[in-house]
Amino acid sequence: MKIILLGAPGSGKGTLAKNIIKDFSLAHISTGDLFRECIKSGSELGEKLKSIIESGALVPDEVTIEIVKERLDKDDCKNGFILDGFPRTINQAKELEKISHIDTVILVDLSKEIIIERLSARRTCLKCGSTYNFKDVPNGKCLNCNEELIQRDDDKPLTIQNRLEVYEKNTAPLIDFYGDKVVKFSSKGTVEETYRPVKSFLKKLEANIE
Ligand code: ADP
Ligand code: ZN
Repeated sequence: MKIILLGAPGSGKGTLAKNIIKDFSLAHISTGDLFRECIKSGSELGEKLKSIIESGALVPDEVTIEIVKERLDKDDCKNGFILDGFPRTINQAKELEKISHIDTVILVDLSKEIIIERLSARRTCLKCGSTYNFKDVPNGKCLNCNEELIQRDDDKPLTIQNRLEVYEKNTAPLIDFYGDKVVKFSSKGTVEETYRPVKSFLKKLEANIE
């Protein structure tokens, strides 16, 4: 299966993806995670990415598409994959069509008010990518790897606003672009409540594809 997760920043794509890969053997490709790895490496490109991402703007399409193409070439993608955070522009979607056929687009739906609330409370483990609400981790450490959790610079209020505007302008038009392929799920409930209907949908889809 080849799946795109579409939705505003903070709508819960990453969390949903982590649940999906527990039940389905798919590679999880998060462009945000790929960029953050690149930043950690301290390369020249990493330095550029850092300032773009901190501002809430999008990384240029050429850079993004190149990184995704390289990633999709790896062996673990042969069985299928979940794209989390890509495509984010019509141009990226058109480039993707040249290299791969997508089975379904899962639209993760959440109101702007809840998004702002969740992003402001979000703490991230830079080692494994796990995210938490700060209220759930009193000691401020990752439950997987005990690493210190941080608030991403782009999860601070000014940047959140900008990211939501960028989403409306550049990414939301993808909903029409993908048309019938889009299936919408609300992520208003708990992690489990959000995942359950997605799982049954994907089980059916998987059976149909094979
Ligand atoms: P979120 O989904 O919470 O916004 P991500 O980790 O997916 O966070 O992305 C963080 C940042 O990385 C984005 O705000 C953007 O600057 C950059 N980025 C991620 N994916 C893309 C993409 N497909 N195209 C351009 N920039 C991207
Ligand atoms: Zn961790």
